[in-house]
Parts: sequence; structure tokens; C-alpha cells
Amino acid sequence: MDAKQKLDLQDTIDTMIREAQELFDAILPKSAGADRRAKVHRSKWSERHRLHVLLDVAKASAGILPNRIREPWLLAELSAIIDVVKIWKKEPNWREIEPSLVNSTDFSHVVATLMVAEHLRESGHKVELIPTRANASPDLRVQAIGGKQSWIQIECKQPKILSGKPFKLSSAEALKVVNQTMRKGKRQLGNKQPGMLAICTYNQAEPNLDVLRQAIVTRLGSTSRDELAGIIMFSLNNLVTMKPGELSFSPILRFEFMKNPAYFGPIEISDAARSDESLGTGHIIGTQVKEPLTEIVVDDFTLLQREVGKSILDAKSATSTKELESNTRVRAERLPSFKEHPVDRAVVVWEGSQYSRFFKGEGNLNYVCGNCGTCLAERVWKLSCSNIIVQCPTCGLYSEFPVVDPSSFAITQNIGIEPAIYRFANTVFVKRGICLIGVGRRFSRP
Ligand SMILES: [Zn+2]
Repeated sequence: MDAKQKLDLQDTIDTMIREAQELFDAILPKSAGADRRAKVHRSKWSERHRLHVLLDVAKASAGILPNRIREPWLLAELSAIIDVVKIWKKEPNWREIEPSLVNSTDFSHVVATLMVAEHLRESGHKVELIPTRANASPDLRVQAIGGKQSWIQIECKQPKILSGKPFKLSSAEALKVVNQTMRKGKRQLGNKQPGMLAICTYNQAEPNLDVLRQAIVTRLGSTSRDELAGIIMFSLNNLVTMKPGELSFSPILRFEFMKNPAYFGPIEISDAARSDESLGTGHIIGTQVKEPLTEIVVDDFTLLQREVGKSILDAKSATSTKELESNTRVRAERLPSFKEHPVDRAVVVWEGSQYSRFFKGEGNLNYVCGNCGTCLAERVWKLSCSNIIVQCPTCGLYSEFPVVDPSSFAITQNIGIEPAIYRFANTVFVKRGICLIGVGRRFSRP
């Protein structure tokens, strides 16, 4: 490396340091004291304020050039942070966001949030940052494309263990991360509106991401939270290329979405490519919302089947991953059963030659006959059927789907079923976000 090349390299790093100092001019002085104390106490760098660590590394690298660069991945991180903050600093509510960068924990969290937000925006979504208020709130919300253009909220977490130094993540550690994320995220997301969690990682090797992905899928397979659409695994790695006299950083972003099988909401989220081609930007996440909410009332089986069939949003998103299916813990619930013939109710009986199931879906709940245990509805959701009576093809007794609180139907598409007897010749495939509701006269068991 000649003198000129050394100078160019020096220049790249100096520019980065200067940019960071300008960009965070309000943050650096306020966080410097705490960081100085942390250094005095010889805190591990992972416990310190990230911005100060990164700046220290950049300055140290500048000092030992051209021999080698210290921790090039930390320089790359600084570069990625500068890029994303430059963009989001222009947002109107940045003034409310900025103060949270002073605290070291919040700093990493805000940066992770910005990365996720930017990624979604580049994929064509409208994204809003939500400043931290007194009461728990999610980090951002994203508007779905199409349909009613509903919003879905996202809570981002950047677990410390996954935010830096390379190490080997064990399955137990990964599961702990996912459990903590689910628990903390519950507070921010609440349980009324559809939401997603994002687990953000930085500089993690492929085997670690594999372990984390598996932990997410396993954990989601056993949750019953129907407002949680799923978990995003967001990873940022950096490719540092160093040619003589030239240093360049290319961020490698990866965005994977793992669907929660128990999710039952109006926004359909599809996970696009999960290969190395998904690097960079593009429509990595494709959200699909249903048509405007409607209430349809049907009075025969063919009509019912047609209406449920029509509501297919996106053939691709309807296919669930095999991986998820095998990990889903399906719960069985016994329906109350009785002998008396129901009057003025929506009653479903089996008329086909070979019994399969009355209803089937991709959810996490099996409903079985309260008397003999025959499966009546397989892998449906809690809200799929309400106030509908099914005659068990095995024992002939009637089983009744519980009446769901009407307020639950506000976010879903509902198909009302008139009181009558419906003769099923084959299985009706129910979908996420569609409720079948027995309507008509107020039900009192005969
Ligand atoms: Zn039975």
C-alpha cells in the first residue's frame, strides 16, 4: 500500500467519524459521561453505549492504519447506522425519537427499529415510527397494501446476545431469546390489534440464524395468541471489502417472516424468498389484505362453500410451510354435546360416503365431539365457528361450537349461516380471518 492509498483509507474512516459526530451531535455529549464511567469500571464493550464503542473503534483503526483495521465489522456497523439515521432523521417525529438514543440500551433498540422500518419502506409499505410514550406502545406500524389498507404494529427487539461478537448460539439460548421476546412484546403489542414481533440480529453467522429460526418456529407452534401474526427474523451482516486504498461496506439484510399458526386476523402476511437471493431490498414482505369487510349470509351448503372459497386472498400465502406444520402444537377441545334435535339452529350433518372432517384449516385447534372424541374440525382457529351445531357422524350426538363474543368479529370477515340443516358432502376448508357464524333466532338449546 502506498502513501496515497493509505491516505484514501484514512479519509474514508475520518469522513465516517465526522459524519457520525454531526449526525449525533445532540446525543454524544449527553451519553459521554455514562460511557466514560463504564470504561473506568472496565465494562465489557457489549455493555457500553454502542455509538461510543463504534466511534472508539473507528478512531483506533485510523490510528493503526495501514497495517490492519480493527474489528472491521464494527466499522461496517457504524457505516450502516449512519446511513439509516440520515434517512429517518428527516421524519417529522424524529424529535420525539431522538432523545431515546442517549440511553445505551435504547440506542441499539432504536437502530434496529429503524433498520426494520427502512426495509419495509423500501419494500413499498407505508411505515410510521411510534415514539415511546409513558404507556407501553409498539415501535412502528406498517400499512398493508391492498384491501382495507389496515395497519399492523411491530415491536422490535434486539437481544444483546445476538448483537455483535461472533459466537455459537445454542438451541436453549435461542429459545430463551424467543421466549423473552414473546413475553416482553406482549406488553407493547397488546392483544387487540394484529401485530408482529421482530427479532433483530447483527453480524450473526448462518448456523446461528438457523438455530434462531428453528427456535422461532418451535415457539410459535405452541402459542395460542391469535393477534400475533408472526415473528420476523431480521439480520444485518456486513460485507467489508478492502482493496488497496479502498474500503467499502455492503450491508446484507435478511428479512424472514415466520407465521404464527394461531394467528387469526385481517392481514395476510406472506414470506417471500428465503434464499440468499433475498439479500438487499425488494418486495421481501408481501402483505395482502382481504377485500373490504362484508357480512354475507348463506343458507345452503353450496353457497357456503363458494363464499369460503371466494375469500382466498392469495394462493401462495395460503400454502403453509411444511416446517411450520410439523412444529405446530395442535390443541384439542371437546365441544359440549347433547342428544335432543336442535330447532331453529344452523346444524351441520355429514352426508358424504366417507367421513373426513366437517371443517379444516391451517390453525392450531382441533374441535372434537364431546361424547366420543371424533374430530369434527381439524386445525381451525378459535374464531372459525360460532354458534353452529354439528352432528357427530360416529355417535350421532350433537356438538355445539361456543358462541363467540361479537366484538371479536370486528376485524374479521364474517359469513352468517341461517338456521337450517346443512348436509356436508365434503370438507369445508376454513381460512384465517373468516368466521362462520350461526345467525337467526336467539339460540336456546331445545
Ligand atoms: Zn361423537
